[in-house]
Amino acid sequence: MKVLVAVKRVVDYNVKVRAKADGSDVELNNVKMSINPFCEIAVEEAVRLKEKGVVTEIVAVSIGATQSQEQIRTALALGADRGILVEAEGRLEPLAIAKCLKAVVDKEQPQLVLLGKQAIDGDNNQTGQMLAALMGAGQATFASELTLDADGAKVTREVDGGLQTLALTLPAVVTTDLRLNEPRYASLPNIMKAKKKPLDVTNAAELGVDIAPRTEQLAVEPPAERAAGIKVADVGELLDKLKNEAKVI
Ligand code: AMP
Repeated sequence: MKVLVAVKRVVDYNVKVRAKADGSDVELNNVKMSINPFCEIAVEEAVRLKEKGVVTEIVAVSIGATQSQEQIRTALALGADRGILVEAEGRLEPLAIAKCLKAVVDKEQPQLVLLGKQAIDGDNNQTGQMLAALMGAGQATFASELTLDADGAKVTREVDGGLQTLALTLPAVVTTDLRLNEPRYASLPNIMKAKKKPLDVTNAAELGVDIAPRTEQLAVEPPAERAAGIKVADVGELLDKLKNEAKVI
């Protein structure tokens, strides 16, 4: 069984994101970039399914600038078998990404497509859902448990206040939540081996996909600075301030 995993290049989650001085976008100059954490969980899940003998091939796909090859190589070092980069420049909307992934799905015919539930840069939480619609396939978002066999997938989803379990026929689309697994670290020998794994490069035009944006980003703003806190001498002063200054009690 073949699994396709979508991996996005994003600003590393440890980096404090800053807006550009003109507010047009996020500052990406000299910023550490990494694989989106939810995509890393998706890769890990595919690798575990391969280790269990359910999956035979894992294909990591990224859409973006040439540098996204670095994130595909990370996925290869974690255990993916080969990579595909769909080269594209500029701000890519979830619909454009979903269409590119659909074109790759048409070529590769995977039984399962694993994506992160959300990319931590755009916070869209749209791509998996759109891809499932374009494929006409079943989808299970926010997966916290996944089992797979030739007949289908069973997915436990984290929903508000509880868990929901779904059975899906294949091919299916599953998006990963935080608690699905804890990704492994890539070992040095595996990083070296990953350099030799196949990585094909194509682009949206070759795939016949229109990636022209339908929306325009007007501004990016950092959150308002929080005022510094103060120390109060005792509970009496605290109550007085809450009542008369903050007026919250
Ligand atoms: P989003 O809908 O943008 O929050 O992204 C959800 C998931 O879609 C990500 O975790 C990835 O698995 C996938 N995805 C989004 N953008 C890309 C991209 N440029 N390349 C590959 N996968 C992507």
